[in-house]
Amino acid sequence: MHCGIISIFPEMFGALTDFGVTGRAIQQEKLRLSFFNPRDFSENTHRTVDDRPYGGGPGMVMMAEPLKQAVMAAKSALLNTNPRQKTRVIAMSPQGRQIDQAKVCNLVNANVLPIFVAGRYEGIDQRFIDAVVDEEWSLGDYVISGGELAIMVVLDALARWIPGVLGHPGSAVADSFADGLLDCPQYTRPAVWSGTPVPSVLTSGDHKAITLWRRSAQLARTKDRRPDLIEKLDQKENEVLINNQCN
Ligand code: SAM
Repeated sequence: MHCGIISIFPEMFGALTDFGVTGRAIQQEKLRLSFFNPRDFSENTHRTVDDRPYGGGPGMVMMAEPLKQAVMAAKSALLNTNPRQKTRVIAMSPQGRQIDQAKVCNLVNANVLPIFVAGRYEGIDQRFIDAVVDEEWSLGDYVISGGELAIMVVLDALARWIPGVLGHPGSAVADSFADGLLDCPQYTRPAVWSGTPVPSVLTSGDHKAITLWRRSAQLARTKDRRPDLIEKLDQKENEVLINNQCN
């Protein structure tokens, strides 16, 4: 999957490109990132990409033109290597739609070339958003200092769904939210820690019983912590889950 990143701090992405699952995905060329710095498209010698807000007030606002030029360069580079695909420009913003697993999976399955835009300062000139941005995505109802961390969160969540990226193909499918429920509790060695044993079914070797226990634990945990997720499951799935409970 080839993604374009519009950011004035491309160096920040080393945290994503140099470590763990995402680092491996990039090394194996399953995930490809191309960076476009709006400063390279600034019209002045100081390479500024921000200016004071009209109407006054604190801080600076990112100017539309350098961002637009950076997106145009990204579109042309991405389409050059993938001429049959379409691009989708996604700006990270606390005012956007909150991301969830479904949104991330949809993007992977849509077979588009995403171009992520990181805002800074007080945000981005609205005219750029209206004219160039297809979607605005939010991490949640809080404000961070820049869109880079938000893009990294999305890219990490997205990389887990690219075929072949995770060591075990079932890992992402077993995670929380993949089937609408939270994951079950996990345990590892030793079998007894600080006087507490792991649930005996997990050391029984009975794989059918283990599968049933895990499903039941998922359901119980989701009911307890996120009843809203249970409500979202359709009635049929709900019945299957409830009938499969092993208390
Ligand atoms: N003044 C803006 C507002 O209140 O909506 C916040 C600007 S914020 C300091 C700078 C940039 O950080 C934003 O343009 C956006 O790219 C990013 N950002 C901040 N919070 C975010 C969130 N919850 N989700 C996604 N991006 C966020």
